[in-house]
Amino acid sequence: MAIKKVFVVGSGTMGGGIAQVSAQAGYETTMVDIKQELLDRGLSRIKASLGKFVEKGRIKQEEMDGTLARLRTSADMKDAARGADYVIEAVFERAEVKLPIFAQLEEICRKETILASNTSGIPVSLLASATNRPDRVIGTHFMNPVPLMKGVEIVKSLLTSEKTLKVSLDFVQSLGKETVVVKDSPGFVTNRIVTLVFNEAAKLLEENLASIEDIDKIEKLSHNWPMGPFELADLVGIDVVVDLLEGIYQQTGWERYKPAPLLKRMVEIGYTGRKAGKGFYQLFGQG
Ligand code: NAD
Repeated sequence: MAIKKVFVVGSGTMGGGIAQVSAQAGYETTMVDIKQELLDRGLSRIKASLGKFVEKGRIKQEEMDGTLARLRTSADMKDAARGADYVIEAVFERAEVKLPIFAQLEEICRKETILASNTSGIPVSLLASATNRPDRVIGTHFMNPVPLMKGVEIVKSLLTSEKTLKVSLDFVQSLGKETVVVKDSPGFVTNRIVTLVFNEAAKLLEENLASIEDIDKIEKLSHNWPMGPFELADLVGIDVVVDLLEGIYQQTGWERYKPAPLLKRMVEIGYTGRKAGKGFYQLFGQG
């Protein structure tokens, strides 16, 4: 199955990144969100990201222009779904938001269209249950920031067909990414691990064990991590972190995934990280 048209649902941190790499790889790409102003914001983030690549000499101006020419935005799902070969959903990490979207995609997309989700941990089989094509539903878990991060977890549910898996692997690899296939289980592999790091770091801060700068510093120096846990949480979005922990906790009942109270307080007061312009560093940083 040759993929030509890609449809990305959600123009936030991840949807924007996925639309960018898809258009960069030569696919006609349409990005959808609920409001035009969100799409405009998403598009300007993509322009800024491409602009930086041009500035650094990593891509030529023509590649940026070509990418933008292949990228369309729309606030109308039906319009965007027309002719789409491959759909990637990247809306909020909540089953109650994603399920109606999958039900709608089932109605408006062609029968052959593959429906992928960028979910970080909601079971792919649950999302597939909102459709009549569970064999053509799969998880493509891109990492943040999408244009820079190489790895993508491909999540095969019990009902995902081998053909859908093969088409998805070829498609994701054609975006310049490396893939690992994992089973459909809460948090998959990456988020089973990294969410515990975020949760424990927040508990250390609650206990006043060390400053936020020092916690990040010692983790970077000790494990050769490019970012510390708070820097990474600010980048990922603290609301996303809480949703991830909550999702795994609700599905498994494992206490260790119960979000630290501090993480929840941060979300309640709107300190959700970089995308809000305020996160851990604005509240607890010394500098
Ligand atoms: P985000 O909050 O930045 O963006 C979500 C976007 O979805 C928003 O622009 C919102 O308006 C839009 N949206 C919500 N409902 C919609 C609907 N019905 N139709 C169209 N658009 C709708 O979130 P994000 O960080 O981009 O996360 C998106 C998905 O990617 C989540 O499932 C998340 O778990 C996953 N993910 C996030 C990261 C990360 O680091 N942020 C990493 C990997 C995977």
